[in-house]
Amino acid sequence: MTTQPCLCGYFTDPSKECTCTPLQIQKYMAKISGPLLDRIDLHNEVPAVKYKELASKDSGESSHQIRERVIAAREIQMKRFVGRKGMFCNADMLSKDIQTYCKHDSAGEELLKMAITKLGLSARAYDQILKVRRTIADLANSESIKPEYVSEAIQYRSLDRGLWEGK
Ligand SMILES: [Zn+2]
Repeated sequence: MTTQPCLCGYFTDPSKECTCTPLQIQKYMAKISGPLLDRIDLHNEVPAVKYKELASKDSGESSHQIRERVIAAREIQMKRFVGRKGMFCNADMLSKDIQTYCKHDSAGEELLKMAITKLGLSARAYDQILKVRRTIADLANSESIKPEYVSEAIQYRSLDRGLWEGK
């Protein structure tokens, strides 16, 4: 799913002025209901790309390399859930499985606690972050879930973070 940040589309754009009023922006974002948003695992803000950046050859990891990493991460997950009926990937985990498969480390745990308090995350959003950080670790072929994976997973809850409400 994609959406503009506001009616005119420039609320989050640093190079152009947004012409909407705060009330218009609030009403615009309120159209996406909380329960619906809660079911979307990853939120990502996509800023406007300048032509120079689009035309640049130096675009980092290629699609092919990313594909290889995704396939490898799916294989790790298939192995993880061997013998578990109907479970093939991290997204299939229920709350109780997260305890088993997503081992905690204390630094990451502190970060997560802070984020939950500050953002007022729902139980569902909390579970999603736990699963997503496991997936980020799998994509990096890392058995342990490092604190930086936790912050990355939190980054993907940008709508909970209230970026568009100007909080
Ligand atoms: Zn606007």
